[in-house]
Amino acid sequence: KELKKHFPLNKGWFGRQTGSVKAVDGVSFVINEGETLGLVGESGCGKSTTGRMIMSLLKPTDGQIWFKGQEISKLKDDEVRDLRKDFQMVFQDPYASLNPRMKVKDIVAEPLIIHGEKDKGVIQNRVDELMKTVGLNAFQADRYPHEFSGGQRQRIGIARALAVKPKLIIADEPVSALDVSIQSQILNLLQDLQEEMGLTYLFIAHDLSVVEHISDRIGVMYLGRLVEVADKDSLYDEPLHPYTQALISAVPVPNPRLKRERIILKGDIPSPANPPTGCPFHTRCPKAMDICKTKVPVMREAREGHYTACHLYES
Ligand code: SF4
Ligand code: MG
Repeated sequence: KELKKHFPLNKGWFGRQTGSVKAVDGVSFVINEGETLGLVGESGCGKSTTGRMIMSLLKPTDGQIWFKGQEISKLKDDEVRDLRKDFQMVFQDPYASLNPRMKVKDIVAEPLIIHGEKDKGVIQNRVDELMKTVGLNAFQADRYPHEFSGGQRQRIGIARALAVKPKLIIADEPVSALDVSIQSQILNLLQDLQEEMGLTYLFIAHDLSVVEHISDRIGVMYLGRLVEVADKDSLYDEPLHPYTQALISAVPVPNPRLKRERIILKGDIPSPANPPTGCPFHTRCPKAMDICKTKVPVMREAREGHYTACHLYES
């Protein structure tokens, strides 16, 4: 609810505070149990920062995070630890997130040990089981991460995330570093695991074609704010926000007869240290009106279950 993360900028040479980067600037959304919410936007739009706040890896500047009726954003650090079991993260670069000096079995077992499992036999069995669950062989757990391919390393990252039977997995660009042919294997694995285990996903990506495959609903972020949230189908069939329309126009369509006209946005994304007044998208929006320069549009339900923050839909 109204999540914000403002990072103070370095103080200048004369010790003056020079402002802050508004990485996330008032974001509200719900993730329903068992669904996948895709979170999309260009790099720097605040989607990873949002994920890290939900994971309690970053403290929000403002706003609240609720989980099963409990406000977790006001818990103390030791109270958060118990909750950590329910929340796990899968990262973009499986190589960077796996300790190269540890054997895979120790990497996968680590969350179990952190959460108090001491019985070596139990740990061994669980690691074997997890390796098979993600499509690897149990004997491969004796190897080191560098002995695996990128796709296999992401499978190891997923096995580790599953070790403590989480409820919510925040996957931050989990396939962006992988070859296209491997991407769909990992996406299929994530979908199978979701079905088997009733997992809930927040799936972060900069690429709309990746989230289309896996999401039930999609949220689009721009410059630290959510600009549109809708069911996948209504978002693709009838994108309302001009930014979403531009993103979707850039997704390749398999049938060339359905080809949409590509909307090219002018200019670059403004700096989150100095965001535009009014609608943060007005400097690049092909449909900008006078009001957009001064008044911030609020998120509202423009169609049933389809929310957007844009003055075009306010009357
Ligand atoms: Fe464009 Fe105005 Fe809508 Fe912002 S509020 S997206 S500038 S039309
Ligand atoms: Mg990111």
